[in-house]
Amino acid sequence: MANEIKRKILIAEDDPGICTFLRATLLAEGYDVITAHDGQNALGMISSHCPDCVLLDLGLPDMDGNQIIQSIRKWTHTPIVVISARSMEDDKARALDLGADDYMTKPFGTVELLARIRTALRHTHTTSETGELALTGCYRVGGLEIDYNKCRVYLDGEDVHLTPNEYRIVALLGKHAGRVLTYKSMLRELWGPAASSDNKILRVHMAGIRRKIEPNPNEPRYIFTEVGVGYRMAEEERP
Ligand code: CA
Repeated sequence: MANEIKRKILIAEDDPGICTFLRATLLAEGYDVITAHDGQNALGMISSHCPDCVLLDLGLPDMDGNQIIQSIRKWTHTPIVVISARSMEDDKARALDLGADDYMTKPFGTVELLARIRTALRHTHTTSETGELALTGCYRVGGLEIDYNKCRVYLDGEDVHLTPNEYRIVALLGKHAGRVLTYKSMLRELWGPAASSDNKILRVHMAGIRRKIEPNPNEPRYIFTEVGVGYRMAEEERP
């Protein structure tokens, strides 16, 4: 990041060991780092330091993590990547539905951490510059291509003939590639606020999509299942 302005990351984490690990990793990568050890402190630092991204432990001593997300989202779109020791899938989905951008479950590695942060930072960038991401142009990863202008999806150059609903699902995931989308947010986005909260419709469509776009539907390369939470499309390859 030689010629770039340093991005500032706030780590809100009460475990000293994890905090030290995160801080060292992010400093080595060239980020500015500030830290908070409880929720009140974190909220104060977000308003006074305006970080570019917040790494938020859901289990802080003074406040519930989801309460913190709600407070932050009342006044800023700063990306929030939740770090959680909880394996409860409902917690992750709830954090995302309240406005967190992504989540990682402890323990996680450096590669995953840095990838999540890059994705979170890139998405704020795009959104603040162009407003809503326009669904034009192309998305490409591996042999998969979504042509938003023609509303078609190709695998190794061949039209895979998605149904209209399958196309809408793939297009939505492609638009947010690299990020997990919860079942709830996808249902709402695709079928409106009155949509059923039953994930079954998504699972049925996804099975159809995978048969068409995945060389091996049991080991997906393009659309990953985040068990109990939602789906994530592989990050676009950049030249
Ligand atoms: Ca904690």
